[in-house]
Amino acid sequence: MKIAILPGDGIGPEVTREALKVLDALALPQLTLFEGDVGGIAYKRQGHPLPAETLEMARAADAVLFGAVGDPECDTLPREHRPEQAILGLRSELGLFANLRPAAGFPGLEDLSPLKPELARGIDLLVVRELNGDVYFGDKGERDSAGGREGWDDMSYNEAEVRRIAHSAFRAAQKRRKKLTSVDKANVLETSRIWRETVIELAGEYPDVELDHMYVDNAAMQLVRSPGQFDVIVTGNLFGDILSDQASACVGSIGLLASASLGERTTEFGTFGLYEPIHGSAPDIAGQGKANPVASILSLAMLLRHSLGRDADANRIERAVAASLSSEVRGADLGGNAGTQEIGDAIVRQLQAIA
Ligand code: NAD
Repeated sequence: MKIAILPGDGIGPEVTREALKVLDALALPQLTLFEGDVGGIAYKRQGHPLPAETLEMARAADAVLFGAVGDPECDTLPREHRPEQAILGLRSELGLFANLRPAAGFPGLEDLSPLKPELARGIDLLVVRELNGDVYFGDKGERDSAGGREGWDDMSYNEAEVRRIAHSAFRAAQKRRKKLTSVDKANVLETSRIWRETVIELAGEYPDVELDHMYVDNAAMQLVRSPGQFDVIVTGNLFGDILSDQASACVGSIGLLASASLGERTTEFGTFGLYEPIHGSAPDIAGQGKANPVASILSLAMLLRHSLGRDADANRIERAVAASLSSEVRGADLGGNAGTQEIGDAIVRQLQAIA
C-alpha cells in the first residue's frame, strides 16, 4: 500500500503531521509513504506549484493525503504559478471527478452550528459533487452586446458524465441509509433535464436505494430547515460547490470536515483517491500550533475506507475522534484551548483504548 503525502502550505503540514501520527498508531503492515512538495512551498523550491515529480508520485500511489495550499506571498504571481492551481491540476490530471463531502453533527458540539441544536443533532449527510464538468469547464468569454460588455459561460453535461457520478452516489448510498436525493434545476435548464433523465435511468440498477429529486433552490432551503431528511445528495459542479459549503457550515467548525475526491481507477485495495480537509492553509494561524487537525485525521479515515479497503480502521479513527471531542480536548475553533499536537495525541490515546 502506497500513500503519497502532500502537506502543502500554512497549516497543511501541521495538521498532516497529526494525521500521520494516527496512521503510525494503526501500525498497518506493508505501508509505504512518499512525501512531495505542493503549492507555494513547491513553487519556492522547484518553480512550480505542482512539480512533475509530485504528480508522478501521486499517480504511482494508491491514495494521496493532501494538506492545504495557499500562501499570501504567492498571491501576486501569475495565475499558473499560484499555489491553488496545484489542487486543480491534481484533480484533472488524476481524473478525480467525484467529490465526497460528509457532514455530520458531533455529539456535544451542536451549539457551534448556526442551526438550532435539535436540527444540528440530526445532520448526517454526504454531498457527492461532480468535479470535472458543468459551467466551470465550458467555453467562456466576453462579447459586446446592446447592454455593454457581456460575459458568457457554457453549461453542459453529457450522459456519460452524469452516469459515472450517479453510479458513485448510488454506491455511496448503498453503504449508508440507502436514500439518494439528486439536486438539479430541471424546470429551467436543459443540462438539468439530461441530468435528471440519466439519473432516473440508472435507478433501476439500484433497487435498494430510494431516489428522489429536488430543485436546487428548494434543496438550499431544506438544508437549513430540515437537514436530517438527507442521506446522500448528488449534484453537479456548480450546485455542489454551493450546497457542500452550506452543508459544512451547518455542522460548525471548518476544522472538523474532511473530503475525498475519487476517480474511476481502482487499485488492488479500492478506488484511487485524494483526501483533504475542506479548509485552506489558514495563514492567519499558521505556525502557532492552533490548527485543529481533526479534518485531516478524518480525511485519513476516508482514505483508509475508500482507497485501502480498511473499513474497520476507518471506523476506529472516527470513534476515537468522537471520543476525544466528547472528552473536551478541543481547539480554539471549538471554544477550547488544546493545541494541534495535544489534539492529535488525545486522538491517538483514544484510538489505542478502542483497539
Ligand atoms: P481557510 O480555510 O484557510 O481559513 C478560513 C478561516 O478558518 C481562518 O480564520 C482560519 O484560521 C480558520 N481555519 C481553517 N482551518 C482551520 C483549522 N484546521 N483549525 C482552526 N481554524 C481553522 O480559508 P481562507 O482564509 O479563505 O484561505 C486561506 C488560503 O487557503 C488561501 O490561499 C486559499 O486560496 C487557500 N485555500 C486552499 C484550499 C485547499 O488547499 N484545498 C481550500 C480553501 C482555501
